[in-house]
Amino acid sequence: MADGSQIHPPKPATLAAQALGRVDPLTRAIIPPIHPSATYERAPDGTYPGGRTYTRDHNPTYDQPESLLTALEGGQAARLFSSGMAAATTIFETLDIGDHVVAPQQMYWSIRRWLQDLATRGRIELDLVPNGDQAALERALRPGRTRIVWVETPANPTCAITDIAATARAAHAAGARLVADSTLATPVLCRPIEHGADLVMHSATKQLNGHADVLAGALVTASQDEFWERIGQDRGSRGAVLGPFEAWLLLRGMRTLFLRVSHSAAAAQRIAEWLVSHPGIVEVFYPGLPSHRDHAVAARQMSGGFGMLLSFRVAGGAAEAKRVAGALRLFKNATSLGGVESLVEHRAPVEGPGTPVPDDLLRLSIGIEAVDDLVGDLAQALRNGPSPATA
Ligand SMILES: *Cc1c(COP(=O)(O)O)cnc(C)c1O
Repeated sequence: MADGSQIHPPKPATLAAQALGRVDPLTRAIIPPIHPSATYERAPDGTYPGGRTYTRDHNPTYDQPESLLTALEGGQAARLFSSGMAAATTIFETLDIGDHVVAPQQMYWSIRRWLQDLATRGRIELDLVPNGDQAALERALRPGRTRIVWVETPANPTCAITDIAATARAAHAAGARLVADSTLATPVLCRPIEHGADLVMHSATKQLNGHADVLAGALVTASQDEFWERIGQDRGSRGAVLGPFEAWLLLRGMRTLFLRVSHSAAAAQRIAEWLVSHPGIVEVFYPGLPSHRDHAVAARQMSGGFGMLLSFRVAGGAAEAKRVAGALRLFKNATSLGGVESLVEHRAPVEGPGTPVPDDLLRLSIGIEAVDDLVGDLAQALRNGPSPATA
């Protein structure tokens, strides 16, 4: 309208920066309060006028981060959990004995190990299929028996990409739900629900919070169905809930999500391009490289960049990879990813015997430092390379 009273719906970056623009109705505070209360008062007639009973079921500090995540993912509802693992395992806790699950061979190793353990104990039946192999996935599906198809895209640590839309079609045709672990993409770069996923899972410990000071997880659902109700009941019954202080910190971190993700993805792209031509490198895994096996799918499914995580294989084998990880000075030699500080990890020893990860692979999580400094650090640590950047 001419008087400007009608504006377009705010873009996701605006929603995140303003945490949906909410203002505390009582105090007009722009920054929300933290509600540490474990319990809520009943009215004389025994009802709960505040709508809440006990913090294991619901805490008001969750409302704003859950609503923001719902909006950013384009879902219908979200729930926070005490960790990414708590969010992931809650999904499998809702299954019945003998239900069938299909998951990729390359995925976050703790979830894979948990699934394999459940299968060994006879709780579920499990097929692990090669990432991105649509034919293998369709062969593994058992119509009417497969309940969950799990994808992780990009996958940790080799950045393998799965076509979410094609996988969703196959899963739905078999009567299964598609869950996407979208930790590495974040809603800034990919929104799996738009491609047909039923649930999105996040380790909010990583880029959603972004400062490596909160352990948290989240699920976002495309529909508030009976399965979503079971997930909510399970969270409350097992107490896999986030503390209110952590929920508050997570919301604070999410306000800068778009700045951090864009910066880190651009820096990761530049570092991947620099590594590709380095003589001390065997192979670089980054979906933003045209040489990456899944680049075309990634380019179609993601926008605004390809993420903060990349991996590469060091010429000279596992011992040389270990040496390089130790020789980096700015990159901290530590596990995890998605913080403002860049990290390096020699990955195979962490995952242990049986891992599909090559033993000469180093995984980098790119933070928000000056990218020239990071390239310079890699240059000084790698042998046989160009001299360190002078910047
Ligand atoms: C870290 C991570 C998880 C597990 O999350 P936690 O918050 O550490 O429990 C799951 N999936 C991916 C892709 C991760 O990187």
